Amino acid sequence: MTHTLINNVRVFDGVTDGLSEPMNVRVTGNLIDAVSAEPLDADGCDVIDGGGRTVMPGLIDAHMHYDINMNFAELAARADRSDLAIRSVEVARRTLMDGFTSTRDTGGSPFGLKRAIDCGDVDGPRIYPSGPMISQTSGHGDFGCNCRPNPHLTGNHTLDAWEVLGLAHIVDGRDQVLAAVRQNLRQGASQIKIMGGGGGSSPWDPIDTTQFTTDEWSAAVEAAEDWGTYVCTHIFTPRAVNRALDAGVKSLEHAFFLDRETVERIAEEGAFVVPQAWGMSPEVLKNPNLDPTKVEPVRQLQAAYSDVPKWLVECGVKVAFASDLLGTFDDGQLSRRYELHWRAVMYESNFEVLRQATSVAAELLALSGPRNPYPGKLGVIEEGALADLLVVDGNPLDDMTVLGASDVWTGAPAPEPIESIRLIMKDGLSYKNTL
Ligand SMILES: [Zn+2]
Repeated sequence: MTHTLINNVRVFDGVTDGLSEPMNVRVTGNLIDAVSAEPLDADGCDVIDGGGRTVMPGLIDAHMHYDINMNFAELAARADRSDLAIRSVEVARRTLMDGFTSTRDTGGSPFGLKRAIDCGDVDGPRIYPSGPMISQTSGHGDFGCNCRPNPHLTGNHTLDAWEVLGLAHIVDGRDQVLAAVRQNLRQGASQIKIMGGGGGSSPWDPIDTTQFTTDEWSAAVEAAEDWGTYVCTHIFTPRAVNRALDAGVKSLEHAFFLDRETVERIAEEGAFVVPQAWGMSPEVLKNPNLDPTKVEPVRQLQAAYSDVPKWLVECGVKVAFASDLLGTFDDGQLSRRYELHWRAVMYESNFEVLRQATSVAAELLALSGPRNPYPGKLGVIEEGALADLLVVDGNPLDDMTVLGASDVWTGAPAPEPIESIRLIMKDGLSYKNTL
């Protein structure tokens, strides 16, 4: 068992706005066992002098894709499973080295990666896997070419590239939805991801579309809840969101284009929204994975729905931080650093963003209930919590650049390591320590 004592740090606890007075934080095994202004017993501990720096919870990315780690065209043309699996190791390393100690994978097959990380063979964050994203024919997970025969009409289901690569299940009807959900649960999914409406990167589904019928939705939610867990969904519009809420969906991904009434309903029902602020930024229009037919619709939607982020906070919706990281290594990593920057701009508060990326995101992860692969408290600095923490130079509540926040994304140079993150600890073990 490891014992670490970090002396003289000011604590951002993930919940409270502001830093504490100088404190000492002790980690025993994989738990924070003491947080105190009084000197702590250092017997048997590695002692680190925090030098008045900030200690904060490890960051949480509640929506990313370890396996979608090439540009889409290249992925469909030449990848096999091993390309994606090997590349996902580098995605995991970079994610942890950016200070993200927990992540939710919202589409892909990172099950082997998760096992390798959990047993210490590979360095990476905790992973809450959803398994392949579940999409209807012509839905947001359907990247098949136009000459692919509809398997449900021909009775001959030829898998498209995204299905072969473990990124998607294309299914129609209650029975097939049930089979896909249960397949993912069998693999070890901690929650289920359904494509509930049109998207920006997929070729066959306009953004305004609603996907899956009420019957298909309730099949997915029933099968997930029978396993003690929940469904999250890619979704944008009030029509689709209301259908998903009717079925009992707990986590609404993206959800940029909502009316006030729908936002109020989300707040009342206690569902989470997991948006990417970059979806409302000019940078997204330059992204190579945005389908060319979607650029103009997205531009118009951005202009029409610019109040949604403000409404989410005003109405008290639980908003979790998420990058939707995917694509090439550099582009993906930059998207997350850009998200930290752009979200702070949109919410006009570093505290709001940091809360979304720690305690609120942790509350979302805990919805997996008995399927939670990492029982224990995440996203906070307090006695008894899991020891996932960062020590950083400066105060991120005043200056988000100390966590790597950056105002550049697409086409920017490869990201440098974040020097101001001095210590990265996950589950009581240090993965970076420059103190
Ligand atoms: Zn996504």
